[in-house]
Amino acid sequence: MSLKRAQDLPEAGIIPEAGNAAEFTTGDWRTYVPEFVVENCIHCMFCWIYCPDSAIEIDASGEKPVMKGIILDHCKGCGICATECPPAAKGKAALVMVREEK
Ligand code: SF4
Ligand code: SF4
Repeated sequence: MSLKRAQDLPEAGIIPEAGNAAEFTTGDWRTYVPEFVVENCIHCMFCWIYCPDSAIEIDASGEKPVMKGIILDHCKGCGICATECPPAAKGKAALVMVREEK
């Protein structure tokens, strides 16, 4: 196998094929992971809107979308979903960040 030279590599900062994040497993280096407590979920979809990756699984087949859980292969443990998850409706948030056991 011959090594690529610098001029053979794609230019930094360019995404040659957009929308390809789902093809990569990017969740293997996180320290914290969101824990989903389904009984506290009001299915507002804030987590799905704010997640910077494709890590929120929803069922959009019905009249309203339903939060299904976290796709750990893609979750980076950034905690944005837990920050945006509103606790007001049921008193407790449906997403809480916990330290991941490796
Ligand atoms: S942000 Fe929280 S309440 Fe809203 S859909 Fe996600 S888990 Fe459920
Ligand atoms: S912790 Fe970050 S990457 Fe993981 S599901 Fe929440 S918002 Fe998405």
